[in-house]
Amino acid sequence: MKLYWKILLTALIPLILVLGLGLYQVNRSIRIHEAGVASENRLKTSLLQVRLSAFLDDMNKTAAIISGSRDVERAVQAGDTDFLTSWGSLFLFEGGLENIIIADRSGTVLARPGDPFRFGDSVSDHPAFIGAMAGKDIAAFYEMDGFLSIVCVNPIKLYGEDPVGVVFVTAPVTYSLLSFFSSATGIGILVEPEGFPPVSSSPDLLPGKGFLFSPSLISEGVPMKRVEVFFPDDQAIVPLSDLHNRMLWVTVFIFVVLPVALLILLRRHLRPYSNLMAHLMPLTEKGADLEEIRRGLEQDFRQNRHEVAAVASAVVRILKLLEEKILLLEKTSRTDPLTQVSNRLHLDRLLQAEMERSASEEEPLSVIIIDLDHFKDVNDVFGHQAGDRVLYRAAQILKETAGPGAFVGRWGGEEFLIILPSVGEDSACREGENLRKAVEKGDFAIERYVTISLGIATMLPGDTPSTLVHRADKGLYRAKAEGRNRTVLGRE
Ligand code: GH3
Ligand code: MG
Ligand code: MG
Repeated sequence: MKLYWKILLTALIPLILVLGLGLYQVNRSIRIHEAGVASENRLKTSLLQVRLSAFLDDMNKTAAIISGSRDVERAVQAGDTDFLTSWGSLFLFEGGLENIIIADRSGTVLARPGDPFRFGDSVSDHPAFIGAMAGKDIAAFYEMDGFLSIVCVNPIKLYGEDPVGVVFVTAPVTYSLLSFFSSATGIGILVEPEGFPPVSSSPDLLPGKGFLFSPSLISEGVPMKRVEVFFPDDQAIVPLSDLHNRMLWVTVFIFVVLPVALLILLRRHLRPYSNLMAHLMPLTEKGADLEEIRRGLEQDFRQNRHEVAAVASAVVRILKLLEEKILLLEKTSRTDPLTQVSNRLHLDRLLQAEMERSASEEEPLSVIIIDLDHFKDVNDVFGHQAGDRVLYRAAQILKETAGPGAFVGRWGGEEFLIILPSVGEDSACREGENLRKAVEKGDFAIERYVTISLGIATMLPGDTPSTLVHRADKGLYRAKAEGRNRTVLGRE
């Protein structure tokens, strides 16, 4: 797992746990609160039902008392409006919600105790009147005097006789009536009967829920489109819901925005580390190209001001030092310390490689083996240190004269070997003579001529380094034998 994923998860998991727990708690609080509000609303609704039943009982009792009175029966039979008006008004209260209508058996209204000067009209075709005259006690919604009303109707009769009239106890379904039922509960009531405009306990009710009136009350009479109760807005839930919504948004933010932002930020910040790692990984492999790694690092971190650039620059410096040391080590390992030309080991390797290359490319190759003449005498006459200086000087002259294509090395003692890639027999002989003359003319800072003898050999098919050098040695041997300071081509 990448580092930035680990950082991201470490940062996010606790946050999400805390938020998840918070959300769960807020949700729980909302549920508990809602359950409380629901039971409170149930209680309020029951209270409404109780009020309505009590009101209805009251109406029924009034109707029963009036209809069961002998005085009322006699007054109805006598058409005594005055008596009925004053008697009925005993059951009406100042500002009350009920009305009373007393009619005789023909349906002619004898008295309206609440409206004493209005009588004589007929209720004979009112369905409640017809039902009551058939002997039924009725309690239902009916139209009465142009209003939808709760209507309780009783026949006026005594001891099983035929009714002599009817008593209506009515309560118009108005704003006042509904407000009376719902007072101090905070609940709204809306009644919408068919064929009548809707009536409500409050002017601005929104659609609510539930039936309020008992099924018996609405089983006959005017059918209802809807009878609904409305509960007040739950103010206490608002801050809780707000908190819940805010926490949801924060969760969404944490889930979406934060990971993306953090990922971008971390990747940007950690990319140089990955980059550095990618550059340094090849160092673990065998034969890593230090120079290539160093150049890559220099290029990538030149403009970079990230803190890791300091590490990169330190690595670059270390690699540079390492390269220099390796270079020095390589140079000293292949250079003869006295003469500063290639040592025997390096010469062996060079000769092997050059012979292989020439063979594969079918190019000629020649070698010249060189021995300083009477060098023992130099040592004897001028001392060993002067001898060393002569050796050094001779090597320099050979190197300068042989040119850049030739490899000059110390073969051993006062002997040198020169490898001439792509040089055939004739050119090699000419080159040998050049070398010999250059040494002959060279200034060795001793009072004596220094000369060399040279043996030359050109590579033949099947030659190995030793057969080739052996042939050149033969030339050298002959050059010595023939008087020194000369060049001889070695043959089998
Ligand atoms: P020739 O012409 O037959 O080659 O005679 P020479 O004296 O050169 O031959 P010889 O092989 O007898 O002597 C080689 C001498 O080179 C012997 C040795 O003291 C000397 N010599 C070899 N290596 C060094 C060196 O590193 N420094 C010095 N000063 N002398 C060396
Ligand atoms: Mg020698
Ligand atoms: Mg010698």
